Amino acid sequence: MTRIAHIPVPQFKRIVIVGAGFAGLKLARSLFNSGYQVVIIDKNNYHQFQPLFYQVATAGLEPSAISFPLRILFQKQKRFHFRIAELLEVHPESKIITTSIGELEYDYLAIAAGGVTNFFGNKNIENQAFTMKSVSDAILIRNTILGNYEKALNQTDPEDMAAYLNMVIVGGGPTGVEMAGALAEMKKYILPKDYPELDFDLMKIHLFEASGNLLGGMSEKSGSKAQEYLKKLDVDVRLHTQVTDASPGKVMLKDGTVHKTHTLIWAAGVKAITINGIPVTSIGHGGRILVDEYNRVQELKDVFVLGDNCLIQNETTPKGHPQVAQVAIQQAKNLAKNLINEKTGQSWQKFVYKDKGSLATIGHNLAVADLPGMHFYGFPAWVLWSAVHLMSIIGVKNRFFIMWDWIWNYFSYNQTLRLMIRPKIKKEPAE
Ligand SMILES: Cc1cc2nc3c(=O)[nH]c(=O)nc-3n(C[C@H](O)[C@H](O)[C@H](O)COP(=O)(O)OP(=O)(O)OC[C@H]3O[C@@H](n4cnc5c(N)ncnc54)[C@H](O)[C@@H]3O)c2cc1C
Repeated sequence: MTRIAHIPVPQFKRIVIVGAGFAGLKLARSLFNSGYQVVIIDKNNYHQFQPLFYQVATAGLEPSAISFPLRILFQKQKRFHFRIAELLEVHPESKIITTSIGELEYDYLAIAAGGVTNFFGNKNIENQAFTMKSVSDAILIRNTILGNYEKALNQTDPEDMAAYLNMVIVGGGPTGVEMAGALAEMKKYILPKDYPELDFDLMKIHLFEASGNLLGGMSEKSGSKAQEYLKKLDVDVRLHTQVTDASPGKVMLKDGTVHKTHTLIWAAGVKAITINGIPVTSIGHGGRILVDEYNRVQELKDVFVLGDNCLIQNETTPKGHPQVAQVAIQQAKNLAKNLINEKTGQSWQKFVYKDKGSLATIGHNLAVADLPGMHFYGFPAWVLWSAVHLMSIIGVKNRFFIMWDWIWNYFSYNQTLRLMIRPKIKKEPAE
Protein backbone atom coordinates (compact mmCIF):
# COMPACT_ATOMS: atom_id res chain seq x y z
CA MET A 1 0.00 0.00 0.00
CA THR A 2 1.21 3.53 -0.80
CA ARG A 3 1.93 6.17 1.82
CA ILE A 4 -0.74 8.88 2.39
CA ALA A 5 0.28 11.67 -0.01
CA HIS A 6 1.33 15.25 0.82
CA ILE A 7 2.01 14.75 4.51
CA PRO A 8 5.64 15.86 4.91
CA VAL A 9 8.10 13.68 6.77
CA PRO A 10 8.24 15.71 9.98
CA GLN A 11 11.25 17.26 11.66
CA PHE A 12 9.07 16.96 14.77
CA LYS A 13 7.41 13.92 16.28
CA ARG A 14 4.13 12.96 14.65
CA ILE A 15 0.91 12.30 16.56
CA VAL A 16 -1.78 10.56 14.52
CA ILE A 17 -5.33 10.98 15.85
CA VAL A 18 -8.03 8.63 14.60
CA GLY A 19 -11.53 10.09 14.97
CA ALA A 20 -12.56 13.71 15.38
CA GLY A 21 -15.39 13.17 17.82
CA PHE A 22 -15.40 14.63 21.33
CA ALA A 23 -12.10 13.03 22.33
CA GLY A 24 -10.14 13.31 19.06
CA LEU A 25 -11.13 16.89 18.46
CA LYS A 26 -10.33 18.01 22.02
CA LEU A 27 -6.93 16.29 21.77
CA ALA A 28 -6.17 17.96 18.43
CA ARG A 29 -7.21 21.42 19.69
CA SER A 30 -5.20 21.00 22.90
CA LEU A 31 -2.11 20.28 20.78
CA PHE A 32 -2.28 23.57 18.83
CA ASN A 33 1.18 25.15 18.74
CA SER A 34 2.62 22.25 20.73
CA GLY A 35 5.49 21.62 18.32
CA TYR A 36 4.20 18.23 17.22
CA GLN A 37 3.09 17.38 13.73
CA VAL A 38 -0.54 16.29 14.09
CA VAL A 39 -2.41 14.20 11.52
CA ILE A 40 -6.15 13.75 12.10
CA ILE A 41 -8.16 11.18 10.18
CA ASP A 42 -11.91 10.71 10.28
CA LYS A 43 -14.51 8.96 8.12
CA ASN A 44 -16.29 12.32 7.75
CA ASN A 45 -15.06 15.84 7.12
CA TYR A 46 -17.10 17.18 10.02
CA HIS A 47 -17.46 16.84 13.79
CA GLN A 48 -20.90 15.68 14.94
CA PHE A 49 -22.63 16.76 18.15
CA GLN A 50 -24.31 13.48 19.07
CA PRO A 51 -26.43 14.69 22.03
CA LEU A 52 -28.65 16.64 19.62
CA PHE A 53 -29.12 13.95 16.93
CA TYR A 54 -32.62 13.36 18.24
CA GLN A 55 -33.59 16.96 17.45
CA VAL A 56 -32.50 16.49 13.82
CA ALA A 57 -34.46 13.22 13.72
CA THR A 58 -37.58 15.00 14.95
CA ALA A 59 -37.23 18.00 12.61
CA GLY A 60 -36.26 20.45 15.36
CA LEU A 61 -32.77 21.31 14.11
CA GLU A 62 -30.96 21.38 10.80
CA PRO A 63 -28.22 18.74 10.38
CA SER A 64 -25.69 21.48 9.60
CA ALA A 65 -26.34 23.18 12.96
CA ILE A 66 -24.90 20.22 14.87
CA SER A 67 -22.05 19.43 12.47
CA PHE A 68 -18.84 21.42 12.08
CA PRO A 69 -16.38 21.26 9.14
CA LEU A 70 -13.05 20.04 10.51
CA ARG A 71 -10.80 21.83 8.05
CA ILE A 72 -11.97 25.23 9.34
CA LEU A 73 -10.62 24.36 12.79
CA PHE A 74 -7.14 23.54 11.51
CA GLN A 75 -6.74 26.34 8.95
CA LYS A 76 -4.25 28.32 11.05
CA GLN A 77 -2.20 25.33 12.27
CA LYS A 78 0.84 24.83 10.01
CA ARG A 79 1.77 21.36 11.24
CA PHE A 80 -1.78 19.98 11.22
CA HIS A 81 -3.04 17.73 8.42
CA PHE A 82 -6.53 16.34 8.02
CA ARG A 83 -7.63 13.45 5.80
CA ILE A 84 -10.99 11.79 5.24
CA ALA A 85 -10.01 8.18 5.73
CA GLU A 86 -10.94 5.10 7.65
CA LEU A 87 -8.50 3.34 9.93
CA LEU A 88 -8.17 -0.26 8.73
CA GLU A 89 -5.36 -1.66 10.86
CA VAL A 90 -2.67 -0.75 13.36
CA HIS A 91 0.81 -2.30 13.01
CA PRO A 92 2.29 -1.52 16.42
CA GLU A 93 5.56 -3.35 15.80
CA SER A 94 6.44 -1.02 12.87
CA LYS A 95 4.44 2.00 14.22
CA ILE A 96 2.39 2.28 11.03
CA ILE A 97 -1.35 2.49 10.43
CA THR A 98 -3.14 1.29 7.34
CA THR A 99 -6.06 3.44 6.25
CA SER A 100 -8.49 3.45 3.33
CA ILE A 101 -6.23 5.98 1.54
CA GLY A 102 -2.78 4.63 2.37
CA GLU A 103 -0.29 4.00 5.15
CA LEU A 104 1.22 6.39 7.63
CA GLU A 105 3.96 6.13 10.24
CA TYR A 106 3.37 7.53 13.73
CA ASP A 107 5.39 8.35 16.79
CA TYR A 108 2.26 8.42 18.94
CA LEU A 109 -1.12 7.05 17.92
CA ALA A 110 -4.34 8.18 19.63
CA ILE A 111 -7.41 6.16 18.72
CA ALA A 112 -10.73 7.88 19.46
CA ALA A 113 -13.06 6.14 17.01
CA GLY A 114 -16.04 5.92 19.39
CA GLY A 115 -18.69 3.26 19.28
CA VAL A 116 -21.34 1.65 17.13
CA THR A 117 -24.83 0.43 17.94
CA ASN A 118 -24.93 -2.92 19.69
CA PHE A 119 -27.75 -5.25 18.57
CA PHE A 120 -26.36 -8.05 20.75
CA GLY A 121 -26.14 -10.33 17.70
CA ASN A 122 -29.83 -10.05 16.74
CA LYS A 123 -29.73 -9.72 12.93
CA ASN A 124 -33.53 -9.40 12.56
CA ILE A 125 -33.59 -6.38 14.83
CA GLU A 126 -30.50 -4.95 13.11
CA ASN A 127 -32.24 -5.25 9.72
CA GLN A 128 -35.47 -3.57 10.86
CA ALA A 129 -34.31 -0.96 13.35
CA PHE A 130 -33.13 2.60 12.88
CA THR A 131 -30.10 3.72 14.84
CA MET A 132 -28.90 7.12 15.98
CA LYS A 133 -25.13 7.10 15.74
CA SER A 134 -24.58 9.73 13.03
CA VAL A 135 -26.17 12.80 11.46
CA SER A 136 -26.98 10.58 8.46
CA ASP A 137 -28.89 8.19 10.76
CA ALA A 138 -30.84 11.13 12.18
CA ILE A 139 -31.77 12.37 8.68
CA LEU A 140 -32.86 8.85 7.75
CA ILE A 141 -35.15 8.70 10.81
CA ARG A 142 -36.61 12.10 9.96
CA ASN A 143 -37.30 11.05 6.36
CA THR A 144 -38.76 7.71 7.49
CA ILE A 145 -41.10 9.23 10.06
CA LEU A 146 -42.38 11.83 7.60
CA GLY A 147 -42.58 9.22 4.82
CA ASN A 148 -44.60 6.91 7.08
CA TYR A 149 -47.18 9.65 7.72
CA GLU A 150 -47.57 10.10 3.97
CA LYS A 151 -48.02 6.31 3.64
CA ALA A 152 -50.52 6.26 6.52
CA LEU A 153 -52.71 8.59 4.47
CA ASN A 154 -53.02 5.85 1.84
CA GLN A 155 -54.27 3.20 4.29
CA THR A 156 -57.99 2.47 4.62
CA ASP A 157 -57.70 -0.22 7.31
CA PRO A 158 -57.21 1.50 10.73
CA GLU A 159 -54.82 -1.25 11.83
CA ASP A 160 -52.57 -0.66 8.81
CA MET A 161 -52.80 3.08 9.37
CA ALA A 162 -51.80 2.65 13.02
CA ALA A 163 -48.73 0.60 12.03
CA TYR A 164 -47.43 3.63 10.08
CA LEU A 165 -48.22 6.03 12.93
CA ASN A 166 -46.88 3.95 15.83
CA MET A 167 -43.33 4.29 17.10
CA VAL A 168 -41.36 1.82 19.16
CA ILE A 169 -38.24 3.08 20.88
CA VAL A 170 -36.05 0.52 22.58
CA GLY A 171 -33.73 1.62 25.37
CA GLY A 172 -34.58 3.99 28.20
CA GLY A 173 -31.23 5.78 28.40
CA PRO A 174 -30.95 9.51 27.54
CA THR A 175 -31.25 8.87 23.77
CA GLY A 176 -34.45 6.81 24.09
CA VAL A 177 -36.01 9.13 26.66
CA GLU A 178 -35.22 12.32 24.72
CA MET A 179 -36.41 10.80 21.45
CA ALA A 180 -39.68 9.57 23.02
CA GLY A 181 -40.34 13.01 24.53
CA ALA A 182 -39.66 14.83 21.26
CA LEU A 183 -41.91 12.46 19.28
CA ALA A 184 -44.67 12.84 21.87
CA GLU A 185 -44.53 16.62 21.50
CA MET A 186 -44.69 16.25 17.70
CA LYS A 187 -47.77 14.09 18.13
CA LYS A 188 -49.35 16.59 20.49
CA TYR A 189 -48.59 19.87 18.78
CA ILE A 190 -47.58 19.35 15.16
CA LEU A 191 -48.66 16.19 13.38
CA PRO A 192 -52.45 16.62 13.76
CA LYS A 193 -52.12 20.07 12.13
CA ASP A 194 -50.02 18.72 9.24
CA TYR A 195 -52.17 15.62 8.71
CA PRO A 196 -55.77 16.51 9.63
CA GLU A 197 -57.06 13.44 7.73
CA LEU A 198 -55.23 11.02 10.06
CA ASP A 199 -56.69 9.68 13.29
CA PHE A 200 -54.03 10.39 15.91
CA ASP A 201 -55.94 8.47 18.56
CA LEU A 202 -54.55 5.42 16.75
CA MET A 203 -50.95 6.54 17.26
CA LYS A 204 -49.00 5.07 20.16
CA ILE A 205 -45.43 5.88 21.20
CA HIS A 206 -43.89 3.00 23.13
CA LEU A 207 -40.66 3.17 25.10
CA PHE A 208 -39.38 -0.26 26.15
CA GLU A 209 -36.61 -0.64 28.69
CA ALA A 210 -35.24 -4.00 29.84
CA SER A 211 -34.10 -2.81 33.30
CA GLY A 212 -36.23 -1.52 36.15
CA ASN A 213 -35.67 2.23 35.62
CA LEU A 214 -35.14 4.89 33.00
CA LEU A 215 -31.91 6.89 32.64
CA GLY A 216 -29.79 4.12 34.14
CA GLY A 217 -26.67 6.30 34.48
CA MET A 218 -28.56 8.93 36.49
CA SER A 219 -30.19 8.90 39.96
CA GLU A 220 -33.30 6.77 40.57
CA LYS A 221 -35.26 9.95 41.29
CA SER A 222 -34.35 11.39 37.88
CA GLY A 223 -35.35 8.12 36.23
CA SER A 224 -38.77 8.14 37.87
CA LYS A 225 -39.25 11.88 37.15
CA ALA A 226 -38.48 11.21 33.48
CA GLN A 227 -41.05 8.40 33.54
CA GLU A 228 -43.61 10.74 35.09
CA TYR A 229 -42.96 13.41 32.42
CA LEU A 230 -43.21 10.88 29.59
CA LYS A 231 -46.50 9.52 30.93
CA LYS A 232 -47.79 13.10 31.05
CA LEU A 233 -46.95 13.29 27.35
CA ASP A 234 -48.88 10.05 26.75
CA VAL A 235 -45.85 7.84 26.06
CA ASP A 236 -46.37 4.17 26.90
CA VAL A 237 -43.30 3.53 29.10
CA ARG A 238 -42.69 -0.11 29.97
CA LEU A 239 -39.88 -1.18 32.25
CA HIS A 240 -38.62 -4.79 32.57
CA THR A 241 -39.66 -5.18 28.93
CA GLN A 242 -37.36 -6.85 26.45
CA VAL A 243 -37.66 -6.64 22.67
CA THR A 244 -36.52 -10.01 21.33
CA ASP A 245 -37.27 -9.99 17.61
CA ALA A 246 -38.51 -7.91 14.70
CA SER A 247 -39.81 -8.44 11.19
CA PRO A 248 -41.08 -5.95 8.58
CA GLY A 249 -43.82 -3.93 10.33
CA LYS A 250 -43.63 -5.91 13.60
CA VAL A 251 -41.79 -5.85 16.90
CA MET A 252 -41.91 -8.85 19.23
CA LEU A 253 -41.51 -8.73 23.03
CA LYS A 254 -40.21 -11.48 25.32
CA ASP A 255 -43.69 -11.99 26.81
CA GLY A 256 -45.02 -12.85 23.34
CA THR A 257 -46.74 -9.50 22.65
CA VAL A 258 -46.45 -8.20 19.07
CA HIS A 259 -46.54 -4.49 18.25
CA LYS A 260 -47.25 -3.32 14.72
CA THR A 261 -44.97 -0.48 13.65
CA HIS A 262 -42.85 0.63 10.72
CA THR A 263 -40.72 2.80 13.00
CA LEU A 264 -38.48 0.85 15.34
CA ILE A 265 -35.72 2.97 16.89
CA TRP A 266 -32.94 1.08 18.65
CA ALA A 267 -31.21 3.01 21.42
CA ALA A 268 -30.45 0.02 23.61
CA GLY A 269 -26.72 -0.49 23.39
CA VAL A 270 -23.33 0.69 22.25
CA LYS A 271 -20.18 -1.28 21.61
CA ALA A 272 -16.74 0.03 20.81
CA ILE A 273 -15.47 0.09 17.24
CA THR A 274 -13.23 -2.88 16.47
CA ILE A 275 -9.67 -1.91 15.63
CA ASN A 276 -7.66 -4.51 13.72
CA GLY A 277 -4.14 -5.03 15.03
CA ILE A 278 -5.01 -4.53 18.71
CA PRO A 279 -4.21 -7.79 20.57
CA VAL A 280 -7.30 -9.71 21.73
CA THR A 281 -5.91 -9.70 25.25
CA SER A 282 -6.37 -5.91 25.25
CA ILE A 283 -10.10 -6.09 24.50
CA GLY A 284 -12.47 -5.75 27.46
CA HIS A 285 -16.24 -5.88 27.75
CA GLY A 286 -18.30 -4.11 25.11
CA GLY A 287 -15.30 -4.42 22.76
CA ARG A 288 -13.60 -1.54 24.59
CA ILE A 289 -9.80 -1.46 24.48
CA LEU A 290 -8.16 -1.87 27.89
CA VAL A 291 -5.89 1.04 28.74
CA ASP A 292 -4.02 2.16 31.84
CA GLU A 293 -4.61 5.42 33.72
CA TYR A 294 -2.62 7.30 31.08
CA ASN A 295 -4.96 5.94 28.36
CA ARG A 296 -2.09 3.81 27.07
CA VAL A 297 -2.79 0.35 25.64
CA GLN A 298 -0.92 -1.75 28.14
CA GLU A 299 0.73 -4.13 25.72
CA LEU A 300 1.63 -1.61 23.04
CA LYS A 301 4.16 1.17 22.89
CA ASP A 302 2.92 4.69 22.15
CA VAL A 303 -0.66 3.67 21.33
CA PHE A 304 -3.40 5.47 23.28
CA VAL A 305 -7.16 5.02 23.21
CA LEU A 306 -9.66 7.63 24.38
CA GLY A 307 -13.40 8.05 24.98
CA ASP A 308 -16.05 5.44 24.17
CA ASN A 309 -13.41 3.23 22.58
CA CYS A 310 -11.44 2.60 25.79
CA LEU A 311 -11.85 0.97 29.15
CA ILE A 312 -9.94 1.97 32.28
CA GLN A 313 -10.70 -0.77 34.76
CA ASN A 314 -9.50 -0.36 38.31
CA GLU A 315 -10.82 -0.41 41.89
CA THR A 316 -12.66 2.90 41.51
CA THR A 317 -14.06 2.09 38.05
CA PRO A 318 -14.52 -1.71 37.90
CA LYS A 319 -16.86 -1.36 34.91
CA GLY A 320 -14.95 1.52 33.33
CA HIS A 321 -16.11 5.11 32.96
CA PRO A 322 -19.52 5.99 31.52
CA GLN A 323 -19.50 6.39 27.73
CA VAL A 324 -20.29 10.11 27.79
CA ALA A 325 -18.81 13.23 26.24
CA GLN A 326 -17.20 14.58 29.45
CA VAL A 327 -15.11 11.43 29.93
CA ALA A 328 -13.88 11.64 26.31
CA ILE A 329 -13.06 15.36 26.62
CA GLN A 330 -11.27 15.07 29.97
CA GLN A 331 -9.21 12.07 28.82
CA ALA A 332 -8.17 14.00 25.71
CA LYS A 333 -7.12 17.04 27.76
CA ASN A 334 -5.07 14.84 30.07
CA LEU A 335 -3.33 13.03 27.20
CA ALA A 336 -2.52 16.34 25.47
CA LYS A 337 -0.95 17.63 28.71
CA ASN A 338 1.10 14.44 29.03
CA LEU A 339 2.33 14.57 25.44
CA ILE A 340 3.36 18.19 25.94
CA ASN A 341 5.02 17.23 29.26
CA GLU A 342 6.92 14.51 27.39
CA LYS A 343 8.58 17.17 25.22
CA THR A 344 9.74 19.11 28.23
CA GLY A 345 10.76 16.06 30.25
CA GLN A 346 8.05 16.50 32.90
CA SER A 347 6.27 13.55 34.47
CA TRP A 348 2.96 12.16 33.21
CA GLN A 349 -0.29 12.65 35.15
CA LYS A 350 -2.86 9.89 35.61
CA PHE A 351 -6.38 10.46 34.33
CA VAL A 352 -8.89 11.26 37.09
CA TYR A 353 -12.50 11.77 36.03
CA LYS A 354 -14.33 14.78 37.47
CA ASP A 355 -18.04 14.04 37.20
CA LYS A 356 -19.76 17.36 36.46
CA GLY A 357 -23.23 15.78 36.51
CA SER A 358 -25.79 14.54 34.02
CA LEU A 359 -28.79 16.10 32.33
CA ALA A 360 -31.64 14.85 30.17
CA THR A 361 -34.56 16.67 28.64
CA ILE A 362 -37.99 15.28 27.94
CA GLY A 363 -39.88 18.22 26.48
CA HIS A 364 -40.88 21.87 26.87
CA ASN A 365 -39.83 22.86 30.42
CA LEU A 366 -39.40 19.19 31.33
CA ALA A 367 -35.90 18.02 32.18
CA VAL A 368 -33.93 16.30 34.91
CA ALA A 369 -30.54 17.32 36.31
CA ASP A 370 -28.18 15.42 38.62
CA LEU A 371 -25.35 17.69 39.70
CA PRO A 372 -22.77 16.87 42.36
CA GLY A 373 -24.72 17.11 45.62
CA MET A 374 -28.01 18.23 44.13
CA HIS A 375 -30.84 17.18 41.84
CA PHE A 376 -33.46 19.35 40.26
CA TYR A 377 -36.23 18.98 37.76
CA GLY A 378 -38.67 20.76 35.48
CA PHE A 379 -38.07 24.29 34.19
CA PRO A 380 -34.74 25.04 36.00
CA ALA A 381 -33.29 21.73 34.77
CA TRP A 382 -34.55 22.45 31.26
CA VAL A 383 -32.89 25.92 31.25
CA LEU A 384 -29.63 24.39 32.47
CA TRP A 385 -29.82 21.62 29.84
CA SER A 386 -30.36 24.21 27.09
CA ALA A 387 -27.50 26.43 28.29
CA VAL A 388 -25.02 23.55 28.67
CA HIS A 389 -25.79 22.16 25.22
CA LEU A 390 -25.65 25.56 23.58
CA MET A 391 -22.26 26.30 25.13
CA SER A 392 -20.92 22.91 24.05
CA ILE A 393 -21.72 23.39 20.37
CA ILE A 394 -18.75 24.29 18.17
CA GLY A 395 -19.04 27.44 16.09
CA VAL A 396 -20.68 30.78 16.81
CA LYS A 397 -22.93 30.47 13.74
CA ASN A 398 -24.15 27.03 14.84
CA ARG A 399 -24.86 28.33 18.34
CA PHE A 400 -26.81 31.22 16.93
CA PHE A 401 -28.88 29.01 14.60
CA ILE A 402 -29.64 26.50 17.34
CA MET A 403 -30.65 29.25 19.77
CA TRP A 404 -32.89 30.78 17.12
CA ASP A 405 -34.51 27.41 16.26
CA TRP A 406 -35.08 26.70 19.96
CA ILE A 407 -36.64 30.10 20.62
CA TRP A 408 -38.85 29.69 17.56
CA ASN A 409 -39.89 26.15 18.54
CA TYR A 410 -40.44 27.14 22.17
CA PHE A 411 -42.94 29.84 21.40
CA SER A 412 -44.54 28.48 18.22
CA TYR A 413 -44.59 24.76 19.13
CA ASN A 414 -43.99 24.31 15.42
CA GLN A 415 -40.56 23.28 14.21
CA THR A 416 -40.49 23.94 10.52
CA LEU A 417 -37.86 21.51 9.27
CA ARG A 418 -40.26 18.76 8.31
CA LEU A 419 -38.54 18.15 4.98
CA MET A 420 -37.84 14.84 3.30
CA ILE A 421 -34.61 15.74 1.53
CA ARG A 422 -32.90 12.70 0.09
CA PRO A 423 -29.47 12.74 -1.57
CA LYS A 424 -29.63 12.07 -5.30
CA ILE A 425 -27.22 9.41 -6.44
CA LYS A 426 -25.85 9.93 -9.93
CA LYS A 427 -26.23 6.88 -12.13
CA GLU A 428 -23.06 5.51 -13.70
CA PRO A 429 -23.18 6.08 -17.50
CA ALA A 430 -23.83 2.88 -19.47
CA GLU A 431 -20.64 1.37 -20.94
C1 LIG B 1 -27.69 9.80 20.17
C2 LIG B 1 -26.65 10.02 21.23
C3 LIG B 1 -26.89 10.93 22.25
C4 LIG B 1 -25.93 11.16 23.24
N1 LIG B 1 -26.19 12.08 24.23
C5 LIG B 1 -25.23 12.36 25.13
C6 LIG B 1 -25.43 13.36 26.10
O1 LIG B 1 -26.49 13.98 26.18
N2 LIG B 1 -24.41 13.64 26.97
C7 LIG B 1 -23.22 12.96 26.90
O2 LIG B 1 -22.31 13.26 27.67
N3 LIG B 1 -23.00 12.00 26.01
C8 LIG B 1 -23.98 11.67 25.11
N4 LIG B 1 -23.76 10.70 24.17
C9 LIG B 1 -22.49 9.96 24.22
C10 LIG B 1 -21.37 10.77 23.61
O3 LIG B 1 -21.77 11.29 22.38
C11 LIG B 1 -20.14 9.88 23.47
O4 LIG B 1 -19.77 9.43 24.74
C12 LIG B 1 -18.98 10.66 22.84
O5 LIG B 1 -19.33 11.03 21.53
C13 LIG B 1 -17.72 9.81 22.83
O6 LIG B 1 -16.72 10.54 22.21
P1 LIG B 1 -15.59 9.81 21.36
O7 LIG B 1 -14.67 10.87 20.94
O8 LIG B 1 -15.08 8.65 22.11
O9 LIG B 1 -16.36 9.20 20.10
P2 LIG B 1 -17.23 9.94 18.99
O10 LIG B 1 -17.65 11.27 19.45
O11 LIG B 1 -18.27 8.94 18.63
O12 LIG B 1 -16.24 10.13 17.79
C14 LIG B 1 -15.74 9.07 17.03
C15 LIG B 1 -15.21 9.63 15.72
O13 LIG B 1 -14.47 8.61 15.08
C16 LIG B 1 -14.78 8.54 13.70
N5 LIG B 1 -14.50 7.17 13.28
C17 LIG B 1 -15.11 6.04 13.65
N6 LIG B 1 -14.52 4.96 13.12
C18 LIG B 1 -13.49 5.42 12.40
C19 LIG B 1 -12.49 4.78 11.60
N7 LIG B 1 -12.40 3.47 11.47
N8 LIG B 1 -11.59 5.57 10.96
C20 LIG B 1 -11.64 6.92 11.07
N9 LIG B 1 -12.56 7.56 11.83
C21 LIG B 1 -13.47 6.83 12.49
C22 LIG B 1 -16.25 8.93 13.65
O14 LIG B 1 -16.61 9.43 12.37
C23 LIG B 1 -16.32 10.00 14.75
O15 LIG B 1 -16.07 11.29 14.24
C24 LIG B 1 -24.71 10.45 23.19
C25 LIG B 1 -24.47 9.54 22.16
C26 LIG B 1 -25.43 9.32 21.19
C27 LIG B 1 -25.16 8.35 20.08
